[in-house]
Amino acid sequence: MKKRILFIATGGTIASEVTELGLKPGISAEGLLRAVPAIRELCDVECLQLYSLDSTDIGPEHWLGMARAIRENYEGFDGFVLSHGTDTMAYSAAALSYLIQGSAKPIILTGAQKPIGFDTTDSRVNLLDSFICACSGDMHGVMIVFNGRVILGTRARKTHSKSFDAFSSINYPHIADVRDGRVTQYIVPGFEKKPRFFSELD
Ligand code: ASP
Repeated sequence: MKKRILFIATGGTIASEVTELGLKPGISAEGLLRAVPAIRELCDVECLQLYSLDSTDIGPEHWLGMARAIRENYEGFDGFVLSHGTDTMAYSAAALSYLIQGSAKPIILTGAQKPIGFDTTDSRVNLLDSFICACSGDMHGVMIVFNGRVILGTRARKTHSKSFDAFSSINYPHIADVRDGRVTQYIVPGFEKKPRFFSELD
């Protein structure tokens, strides 16, 4: 049976197009998926276009919005993939790690340094790797998948502004690698029977 994954799009360079004012998020969640047909072969995906923002405009109200979207859909899906700008992805990942604790289901954030429509781009591989991780059995809780590395949501930091290798895991090893469609996992994150949603603020 194929896994059911909810794809939550929030904007970022991955979904951006060239405009007179520079790069602007404009490609929908469906559009992102169309650019990587292998994803729909791997799993059943439903799309939720939550925001269409540069991540420098994402803050606490959006973190609560992402947590709410996951909470409301938690029972219906096996995992969650969120596309997000890289500038504040680590902050959103940290916030979601505390807003949703002990999740047995994977909650994966990803993005890219180059838009999905560019000839040279990290968008497609990061998106596909994220869905591969979301469908692999031992991924639990909030994490970032980027440039073949899986980093816990509480440990990620953007350390390079241009390199495809944008994120590092700080004071803790990254928990898995994704190469050529295969996941090599070193650490299995802890989880609980039922996740705890800290949603009292929304
Ligand atoms: N400014 C963009 C954002 O964070 C950068 C990116 O996605 O790489 O939305």
